[in-house]
Amino acid sequence: MGMARAALLWASRNEGLRRRLPRYRFVRAAVRRFMPGEAVEDAVGAAGSFARRGLPTTVTELGENVLSPLDAEEVTQRYLRVIDRVSELGLDTELSVKPSHLGFDLDRPLAESNLARLAARAEERSNWIWVDMEASSYVEGTLAIYRNLRGRFRNVGVCLQAYLRRTRGDVDELVRSDAGIRLVKGAYRESKDLLVGGKRDVDEAFFDLALRALPAAKAGSLRLAVATHDLGLIERIERWGTETGVDRSAYEIQMLYGIRQPDQFRLLEAGYRVRTLIAYGTHWYPWYMRRLAERPANVFFVVRNLFQRAPA
Ligand SMILES: Cc1cc2nc3c(=O)[nH]c(=O)nc-3n(C[C@H](O)[C@H](O)[C@H](O)COP(=O)(O)OP(=O)(O)OC[C@H]3O[C@@H](n4cnc5c(N)ncnc54)[C@H](O)[C@@H]3O)c2cc1C
Repeated sequence: MGMARAALLWASRNEGLRRRLPRYRFVRAAVRRFMPGEAVEDAVGAAGSFARRGLPTTVTELGENVLSPLDAEEVTQRYLRVIDRVSELGLDTELSVKPSHLGFDLDRPLAESNLARLAARAEERSNWIWVDMEASSYVEGTLAIYRNLRGRFRNVGVCLQAYLRRTRGDVDELVRSDAGIRLVKGAYRESKDLLVGGKRDVDEAFFDLALRALPAAKAGSLRLAVATHDLGLIERIERWGTETGVDRSAYEIQMLYGIRQPDQFRLLEAGYRVRTLIAYGTHWYPWYMRRLAERPANVFFVVRNLFQRAPA
């Protein structure tokens, strides 16, 4: 792992920085590149304008590791209202949620029952819930929750991280049992022995995992989301698909709001199914630091904001 990435991931977990940095106006201004605003209506508004251009979305409230069942309940209630709101507006806007935001650290069954409430409401409203994958210590528990949910609901998918060695086994298992998988490279700081290797190994692991999942996606038993901004990887997956008779409509591409945004529209026009993940909420600090860690050059973007007037 590069030093800049390691430092930014360390900073993402540093309490003092978490309290201090968000107070600076230039930091808040820089964050606007990755999220349309802190209020849920900012995210829903952005989802509406993307929808007018044919781009479906997913929304997520930033936050993790809630400290009380009451906090978990409030998060759940807010998400239930979002499901209703996007349904009233007729938007193709799904939800992405972190188990630790719904109480996983306090009590795993609590997180599971909160997730089940979201899945049930989403089912009523013909919507879909994506379960985010957090640091490696959450993977086993998150997959257990996911399996239980999937036994009851058809409209849930889970994120799997290509940087973990265990993920190949997880993909092979989930692919057999019809599922929804969102494949990502992985965003957390993990110990080396859990990882497949360096960046190149992670890219190769991602490609390999996508190939393992594509036949089930083609057969219609798996909803597969290839969640990456790596255009080279997307092209390789597409090329392999063309050679083996898997059309690009068999899977979807998911990217984050504000990252490679013009490419998202270009891929849409080229016949890919694309979906953008829009984040909102006040607890953006650790999430934002992980985005910086993915591309330390973004730090220059923050510094540049120091010298510019913050947008009104
Ligand atoms: C829809 C979605 C959901 C996700 N959910 C999870 C999750 O639940 N758990 C988890 O661990 N991770 C999640 N991630 C994050 C993921 O693990 C990666 O950290 C992130 O997507 C960056 O990796 P990459 O695949 O884009 O490839 P990279 O190799 O990191 O990037 C490829 C290229 O994309 C561009 N790029 C990538 N990131 C940025 C950035 N921050 N700013 C500007 N340009 C950038 C750069 O040009 C870079 O060269 C999610 C990502 C997406 C898109």
